[in-house]
Order: sequence, then C-alpha cells, then structure tokens
Amino acid sequence: MNVILFGPPGAGKGTQAKNLVKQLNSFQISTGEMLRDEIQKNSEIGKKIVEDMNDGRFVSDEIVNSLIEKVISDPGKKNKLIFDGYPRSLTQAKNLDKLLIKTNQKINFVFFLNVNKETIIKRIKQRKTIENRSDDDLNTIVKRYDKYMETTKPVLEFYSKNSNFFELDGSTKVEEITAKINTFINV
Ligand code: AMP
Repeated sequence: MNVILFGPPGAGKGTQAKNLVKQLNSFQISTGEMLRDEIQKNSEIGKKIVEDMNDGRFVSDEIVNSLIEKVISDPGKKNKLIFDGYPRSLTQAKNLDKLLIKTNQKINFVFFLNVNKETIIKRIKQRKTIENRSDDDLNTIVKRYDKYMETTKPVLEFYSKNSNFFELDGSTKVEEITAKINTFINV
C-alpha cells in the first residue's frame, strides 16, 4: 500500500508516517529527512540547498525529484511507500504520477492533516526544544507555513478530486488521528 500524508509543517505527518511504517511494514519517505542528510554529508546537493532550507524556502523540484526517483524505483520498497512531505508542488505531484506509472504502482490513500497556523506555531516551538532544528525559529516557521499554504494549494486541488482523498482534523490528539487513519486503511 502506498500512502501520501499531506499537510503543513508541524501537522503531524512525521508521527503518523512512523505509525504507518510499523503497521504496514513499509518505508517512510521524508524528503525533509533526505535533504537534511544531504546537508549533513556536505554533498554537492547539500551545499546547494542549505540556504533554502534554513530560510524556510522550498528546495527546487529538480533536486527533490531526483532524490525521490531512486526510492520509488527501489524494488524492495515497491508498494510500501509512506510519503511524508512529498509532493509539495504540482510539478512534484505530476512527477510522482509518472514515476508510479513507470514502476506499475499507485497511491492508495491521500490523507490531508489540516491544522491552523496558531496550532502549527505552538507545535513547532515545542519541537524546536526537543530536536533543535535550525530551520525551526519563529520567523522560519511562519514563512514555511505561508509558503506551504500558497504553493501546495494546487497540489491539494489535484488530489482532493479523487475518492482516495481524506481530510482529517490534524489539531486533535495523535492517537485519535492514528485511529481514524487505521479505519480507512483497515488494519
Ligand atoms: P520537512 O522536514 O518536511 O518539514 O521539510 C523541511 C524543509 O525541507 C522544508 O521547509 C523545505 O525547505 C525542504 N523540503 C522538504 N520536502 C520538500 C519538497 N518535497 N519540496 C521542496 N522542499 C522540500
């Protein structure tokens, strides 16, 4: 089963992705993690993206798409993909469609975790204390939220027409959201 978790930064995509990975014995595909890895390795990609990441800007579709292609084409991960933070633009969504067709796969569920700005700011402030992420200062948080809402609107429209799209209230308790997701995926 392949699942997309969609929603602004701090909506709980990562937490729900980890639950799904356990339940479905699948893989969390977090482009944010992959990009942070590149920065840590100080790779060519890492050097190119560090400023965008720290300023809360999206990394170019070209770079993100190139990272994601390897994962989707990995036979060991076929139909075991839990997307957390991808796709984030219409170009990425269309790229994903193409890669899925090429590898004979499809998306079974798209869950939109919808949360308002105030809740997001509160949550990311908490996460900052725990994980100490350099992109988590308040200015960046607001920029990331606004940028996310602006850029992902077309992506939301792209997926929301389909019958496998479900909007969930992301401001409720983690366990409640997990339970709802489980009802849909039937585990
Ligand atoms: P995340 O860990 O998903 O909150 O992502 C952290 C940061 O990584 C974002 O603010 C973006 O700068 C970058 N990023 C992650 N995923 C993507 C993506 N699919 N497209 C563009 N930039 C991304």
